[in-house]
Amino acid sequence: MSQSGIVILGAGQAGFQVAASLREGGFVDPVTLIGDEPGLPYQRPPLSKAYLAGKVEATGLALRAPAYFEDHGIVHRGGVRGVAIDREARVLHLDDGTSFAYEHLVLATGSRNRTLPMAGAELAGVHHLRSLADADCLQADLAGAESVVIVGAGFIGLEFASVCAARGLAVGVVEAGERPMARAVSAQTASYFTQSHEAAGVRFAFGAGIRDLVAEAGRIAGVVIADGTALKADLLLIGIGVVPNQEIAADAGLEVADGIVVDAHLATGDPAISAIGDAARFPSRFASGLPGGDRVRIESVQNAVDQGRCLAARLVGRPAPYDAVPWFWSDQGPHKLQIAGLSSPSDEAVVRQSGNGLSVFRYRDGRLSAVESIDRAADHMAARRILTLGLPVTPEQAADPGFDLKALAKGV
Ligand code: FAD
Repeated sequence: MSQSGIVILGAGQAGFQVAASLREGGFVDPVTLIGDEPGLPYQRPPLSKAYLAGKVEATGLALRAPAYFEDHGIVHRGGVRGVAIDREARVLHLDDGTSFAYEHLVLATGSRNRTLPMAGAELAGVHHLRSLADADCLQADLAGAESVVIVGAGFIGLEFASVCAARGLAVGVVEAGERPMARAVSAQTASYFTQSHEAAGVRFAFGAGIRDLVAEAGRIAGVVIADGTALKADLLLIGIGVVPNQEIAADAGLEVADGIVVDAHLATGDPAISAIGDAARFPSRFASGLPGGDRVRIESVQNAVDQGRCLAARLVGRPAPYDAVPWFWSDQGPHKLQIAGLSSPSDEAVVRQSGNGLSVFRYRDGRLSAVESIDRAADHMAARRILTLGLPVTPEQAADPGFDLKALAKGV
């Protein structure tokens, strides 16, 4: 048995942030960051963008250099999994037989890719993309590929489609829904990106499930979609969303419901255990009126970072409820999509357009719920402030290119 102090399970974006913010906040007791991936914490977003495109090296993904951890007294243990929590004794057990006593345990276990439940999903050439190891496998396999099929037109699938199209590969995207990114963006934004990807040569099949995976010599060779159309594929990427890594919490008797359930201070039902990042389901005013109720689980860097900061502040004696406005970005081909707020597919959509790109203002129950901006960073920054402060923007103002959003956001 070793250590005590704060033990963080999951050495990703959120786990790293809480460790760093604890030290910034003056926390002097031991901080231990435990993760099942082999190396130090790194950024995932470039994995489907600049890293796969060969524009950044693995070392460029690191959240901090190795010396940072030593200099800040953050003990990092990589390549080990937390397997059980003894809440009474306040001890975390790892799969290598070691245990860590904790005063406070942070669950920052993130999420993992949903798998395709069908024969052939284990074939060589079938990939998922979550980790640096996944990206390296994908990169190696891409070298010999001429045709690629992506199952799922979500953010990661579409970013990967852009990278492949830019390499001159034949790219097909098979999506069960009627448009891309359907859970997250309006029909207008979806249509903009569909056209942009199609112009780059990507072919979409919407409203289409996969009927069969076709193998040749033990390797993926193609897919057959529900209507019988066959698509050739030297490589298949499955991008059909993620599930939270919540089992260790559930096994310890903590409440889970598509995520580890926490309160506004990110605490679980056990005051000695908190959960943050992709794995946590938390109450949010921005989720009000969404189909899942007022609690939400968000998969984004912003959420992981801001929750890490919020929790660290509580643990050093400066508690405040978590209330950050959600925001997100995705780079697809030449376009940057930025989203502030949280929308539901049924939210009203109002387009604001002048010059380059466009923004789509979403309204739920008459209130601004989210703003999707395509190549309009100024709109996005203003939207973040407007949503944070709850400033009123009518649909008419939103649609009027002459209406000064920036001035509203600045309060002038
Ligand atoms: P993670 O970063 O996933 O970290 C969790 C860590 O815990 C992982 O290393 C996991 O292996 C480990 N772990 C899990 N269980 C255990 C256990 N029992 N024991 C030990 N370790 C464990 N977000 C954006 O906002 N914009 C983007 O453009 C964007 N692009 C993305 C592109 C890709 C390819 C991916 C995969 C994600 C992207 N995201 C993006 C999402 C963003 O990276 C995540 O929301 C963020 O990493 C969540 O941080 P986290 O710490 O909660 O989880």
